[in-house]
Amino acid sequence: MKTLIRNGRVALDGRIQSLDVLVEGGRIAEVGALDTGSADQVIEAAGCYVLPGFIDFHTHVDDQIGPYYLADTYESATRVALENGITTLCTFVTQEGGETLLQAMARARAKAEGRSHSDVLWHLTPTTFSPSDLDTLRTLVSGGYRTLKLYTTYKKAGIYASYDRIEELFESLGPIGTQFLIHCEDDGIIEGVDPSGLDLSKALTHTLLRPEAAEVIAIKKVAQLAIAYRTSMHVVHVSTLEGARYLVANRPKGDLSFETCPQYLFLDESWLAREDGHRWLCSPPLRADRAPFLELIRQGAADIIATDHCPFCARDKDSWNGQDLRAVPNGMPGLGSLPHVTWKIWEDDPDRAALGLSTQVSLNPARRAGLGDRKGALRPGMDADIVVLDPKGQERPLHSTLSDTPEAYSGFTTSLAMRHVLLRGETRVRDGRLTQPKAPTGLLLQPSPATLSPI
Ligand SMILES: [Zn+2]
Repeated sequence: MKTLIRNGRVALDGRIQSLDVLVEGGRIAEVGALDTGSADQVIEAAGCYVLPGFIDFHTHVDDQIGPYYLADTYESATRVALENGITTLCTFVTQEGGETLLQAMARARAKAEGRSHSDVLWHLTPTTFSPSDLDTLRTLVSGGYRTLKLYTTYKKAGIYASYDRIEELFESLGPIGTQFLIHCEDDGIIEGVDPSGLDLSKALTHTLLRPEAAEVIAIKKVAQLAIAYRTSMHVVHVSTLEGARYLVANRPKGDLSFETCPQYLFLDESWLAREDGHRWLCSPPLRADRAPFLELIRQGAADIIATDHCPFCARDKDSWNGQDLRAVPNGMPGLGSLPHVTWKIWEDDPDRAALGLSTQVSLNPARRAGLGDRKGALRPGMDADIVVLDPKGQERPLHSTLSDTPEAYSGFTTSLAMRHVLLRGETRVRDGRLTQPKAPTGLLLQPSPATLSPI
């Protein structure tokens, strides 16, 4: 079956060009000025952008965080993802107490198998760091699991890694190609905040409990380690101007990548001051004075724009008794809004916005996840994950998730319409709706842990 997407504005080689795209056998066959010729199916893309399928590099799905279970399953998350052009969902699996890393991988995989509408890839969070865990990590990285997540905070949750631990891991696992993803908030600074004089009944106080300095100091420490060990490092959800500027300034010295999330661009701490401000509690917190940060991101400073989608049920988020904000689960949804709010970064220049999506929400996350040879660009031989995006669709409210979760982008609207979304060459979404909602065809992109025997 040959499908020709014609007359679209195609993102290719960092430019928007008027080209046609031919798809065959689930892959991109040709890009250029093509004639309809032998195509079995023609998708007319006049007036639309033709972009590589989007990748949300940072989501939390079908997992327990503290006492709360997230609202999205793999089915619901990948549905809202694909309907919004996200053809690959990257999410996390955290090693739990008493569990080996391979068991953790198998557990996550079992939840997603046969239920995922988009393709899925996991970042692995090791927590026990035993000698056998380190051996397994070497096997996993060699076998295709490229991304490890580490936290410089959350000691009580059992996921904290000290700077010494991070240094050890950079030294031992960096040289084999591990991509380290680091949550940077300095635990010493956060634990050093004395809450006794603070008004914990106000959500806005969260900004004092997790100050900007905690993020900036952690970024500087791990960046220096990454430079010293020549290790690839990606800082997740950067929220501070100073942290972002530091990473940009030190890029010539090492592979220092970072992402920010749309909530740190378009939502500021005034949302926490609302009567229902607890719904916008996330870590790092929403910050003040977003204009200079947004301007830096507009200039292309962030390698990746991702959501940190972390959808808690409304009943859990709203169960707060108004006394101690630390009881509120931290996180908000964002997945279904990703392309729409990313577009807003450059909305005065649609071509630039389309290039932003193709670079920061497709090419760069594909490369960082180890998928650069098959996803992230509209080149012959790559998976035909393609979004035909109409920038002039009917205006509608944003829906970050289909689950019962308070909407993060309440009051925001979009005019972007996903006319066609192709997943490995098959049209899976038409006009923003799944074509076969009961037949998920997403692939789990890493090899099964069963095939990766521990050393
Ligand atoms: Zn996260």
